[in-house]
Amino acid sequence: ATHLVWLRNDLRINDNSALWAACRQREAEVIALFIATPQQWHQHDMSPRQADYIWHSLQLVQQALAAKGIVMHYYQCADFSASVDYLASFCAEHQVDALFYNYQYEFNERERDAAAGRQLMQQGIRVQGFDDSVLLPPGSVQTGSQKMYKVFTPFSKAYLQRLRAALPECLPAPAARATALPETLPALAPFDYPRAAFDHQQFPPGEAAALQRLRAFCRQPVLDYPEQRDLPALDGTSRLSVCLATGTLSPRQCLHRLLREQPQALEEGRASVWLNELIWRDFYRHLLVAFPALCKNQPFMPWTKKVAWQDNPDHFAAWQQGKTGYPIVDAAMRQMNRTGWMHNRLRMISASFLVKDLQINWQRGERYFMSQLIDGDLAANNGGWQWTASTGTDAAPWFRIFNPTTQGERFDKQGQFIRRWLPELANVPDSAIHDPHGWAKKNNQRLDYPAPIVEHKAARQKTLAIFEAARNAS
Ligand code: FAD
Repeated sequence: ATHLVWLRNDLRINDNSALWAACRQREAEVIALFIATPQQWHQHDMSPRQADYIWHSLQLVQQALAAKGIVMHYYQCADFSASVDYLASFCAEHQVDALFYNYQYEFNERERDAAAGRQLMQQGIRVQGFDDSVLLPPGSVQTGSQKMYKVFTPFSKAYLQRLRAALPECLPAPAARATALPETLPALAPFDYPRAAFDHQQFPPGEAAALQRLRAFCRQPVLDYPEQRDLPALDGTSRLSVCLATGTLSPRQCLHRLLREQPQALEEGRASVWLNELIWRDFYRHLLVAFPALCKNQPFMPWTKKVAWQDNPDHFAAWQQGKTGYPIVDAAMRQMNRTGWMHNRLRMISASFLVKDLQINWQRGERYFMSQLIDGDLAANNGGWQWTASTGTDAAPWFRIFNPTTQGERFDKQGQFIRRWLPELANVPDSAIHDPHGWAKKNNQRLDYPAPIVEHKAARQKTLAIFEAARNAS
């Protein structure tokens, strides 16, 4: 029998449910396939850095599979629809008996998989999908009345209970197969998609590097995480998001490694704080499945569609470029533009600034983030934006508005992080770093840094007014 593993967001050989299942039958020949879909990626605003990370990780997974006697084929076509056609012809050509793949939960991805399933079944091919990019399958953690939770805290309580009762299994890499490999592996032609270089020290591609980083993080830094995770000047978080978004690492590997190093993490305690973030990740994935409209540019709370967003191209450009005149926002945006990653606290601050200081539609920010982030992930990005914009489930209430200056003072007191990204503020003393223009005026200095593009107090009032009007109109 010939078993085909269709790789997508699961670029690893350890704890890969589809791969494991495909290899269970000893005598089967197992092959793998990755199909690049650049036009679809454009539609989904995939960042060129993520494309480059995938590209490098693909080479590594192809080698790792070859070491197990599995050849990974590669093909590039336009979009999901074309990928289904190609998959069907590939299966016919290679006389595939069974297809194995791990689910993706976004709407277009699910439509693609349904189409592929229909097509292959017509060809007499067995198709099996697996829940793999989550700790627990969507739909498996529900309220007493069998509904998806809309609030995170009860969801996470129920979640932890489930995990305490039985941990999801973490699978090893499959055993090496006796298949004779061809002399050269199928070529991986470069994607027909813009790629941008990223820092391989910070985001080393491939699963071996991901596992190494995970191990190191769970040994010690995870214990300091509760205090350090909100301070962008420190390297206090795992930086595993790109690995989880592209599947060079699985959340089950994170859970098992965490528990091996910190066995108390399922109960209270320091290491449980990081676990809670992994549960947030699952929460947003479970929501995508329960409410597919989230994938279709819809806010979770319909009344927020009536908010009269402003359309000021200069403001939007200033925000994108990190030139708003608010140092913490600008440093955050420049970190993302330059590296493809932004600290979580800063994602909240800069997203809040766009929505609640500039009154610009959160969906424009969501798209811009996606186009820049190396770890861009629809569920987490949409969840984060809807939370910040007060349009989502369990979101920040609309009348709670971050003050970008006090946020900066709280989380980057001396401006250590700000200075890294805004060299034009090098001469401003620590005590004035969050209000450089106030200092410059008092001291008769010239600054090569934009003045604040809006005044926060007035912006706040405007935001309250447009949200209130939308609320009253519905
Ligand atoms: P750690 O703090 O070490 O957390 C461990 C893992 O848990 C992360 O790698 C991530 O997979 C998950 N996680 C952590 N926080 C969250 C969260 N709030 N929601 C969902 N999952 C979480 N995360 C993405 O992976 N991709 C995105 O596109 C993305 N966009 C965001 C947009 C906004 C506006 C906001 C507020 C948050 C967004 N996040 C996104 C969540 C979070 O900011 C990142 O996951 C985190 O900063 C990644 O750094 P880390 O790996 O060091 O995280």
